[in-house]
Amino acid sequence: MKKHNFSAGPSILPQEVFEKAAQAVLDYNNSGLSILEISHRSKDFVAVMDEARALALELMGLTGKGYQALFLSGGASLEFVRVPYNLMTKNGKAAYLDTGTWAAGAIKEAREFGDTLVVASSKADNYTHIPAGYAIPADADYFHCTSNNTIFGTQMHAFTETGVPVVCDMSSDIFSRQLDFSKFGLIYAGAQKNMGPAGTTLVVVKEELLGKTGRHIPSILDYKQHIDKESMYNTPSVFAVYTSYLTLQWLNNNGGIEAMEKKNNAKAELLYAEIDRNPLFKGTARTEDRSKMNVTFLLDDESHTEQFDKLWKAAGISGLAGHRSVGGYRASIYNAMPIESVQVLVDVMQELEKNV
Ligand SMILES: *Cc1c(COP(=O)(O)O)cnc(C)c1O
Repeated sequence: MKKHNFSAGPSILPQEVFEKAAQAVLDYNNSGLSILEISHRSKDFVAVMDEARALALELMGLTGKGYQALFLSGGASLEFVRVPYNLMTKNGKAAYLDTGTWAAGAIKEAREFGDTLVVASSKADNYTHIPAGYAIPADADYFHCTSNNTIFGTQMHAFTETGVPVVCDMSSDIFSRQLDFSKFGLIYAGAQKNMGPAGTTLVVVKEELLGKTGRHIPSILDYKQHIDKESMYNTPSVFAVYTSYLTLQWLNNNGGIEAMEKKNNAKAELLYAEIDRNPLFKGTARTEDRSKMNVTFLLDDESHTEQFDKLWKAAGISGLAGHRSVGGYRASIYNAMPIESVQVLVDVMQELEKNV
């Protein structure tokens, strides 16, 4: 039986995407060949790459606005390196917001390149909230933030206005809500949270920001090279790109980001309402900074752990264990998660309440 999959990543994808991807592994578009055995330079695959790049921009409302979409390899973690390489000028500086483990990872890499200013951090509070009231220096080359903190269950619900280019790691909430994407200079997202399988990273970059650092950039790390080669500088992760493309098509055929946001809001409201109502549970993130993608919560009394774990496992739920740095539980309720699965979890939480 198919599980209710609350895994943080790699994570749930629409069932229809799994089916189409499986079919393409056996026989891609009745070609007599698997998608896994054709050249990435074949007409068939070049079309997939071109359409996926165009659709990503279209869904974000960025078509014709000077942006390029790329599907790169190396995970979001490699973008922690590519971003300063491509955007931090020699002797320049960059500003970073420290909101969690991934943000801290990006900061660590930027420090290899130059002056890396942390404008604010919530680390002292174990990242239970998003810092506010910080200033971004006007002479920074860019400001880097993480829109959704996958591990700590917090999300930026507002973005500070600034004159410097904004770079955002949207790995765990890309395409989950409407934003004015044209306010960002560069957006990146590892596919495996909300867009596809592991193995590719979407990078959306405003082209005019590139080529200004005075650094020599190795080709594989140079966004300009990837743009010039139409995201085919080297062999892309064909299966990850194809499956991400199927997911983008699914999104587009189901009302786009607008419809997705409504569903995501309803799912998050349902689950947070139960966490707040049920005396056995408590949320870990500050209420106003709660994530609508990764819902982190604890049992008020840990002696109920065994009983709760038994109940949710019996209900066909998978992937609910919290990250070791927070403990407790984390329900990742990405785009592909139906509200019915969230209801199953809520029912289990209520069952526990009746039984203790
Ligand atoms: C998972 C995650 C990453 C790391 O992604 P990799 O693809 O494993 O490198 C970075 N940032 C955020 C916000 C994440 O959720």
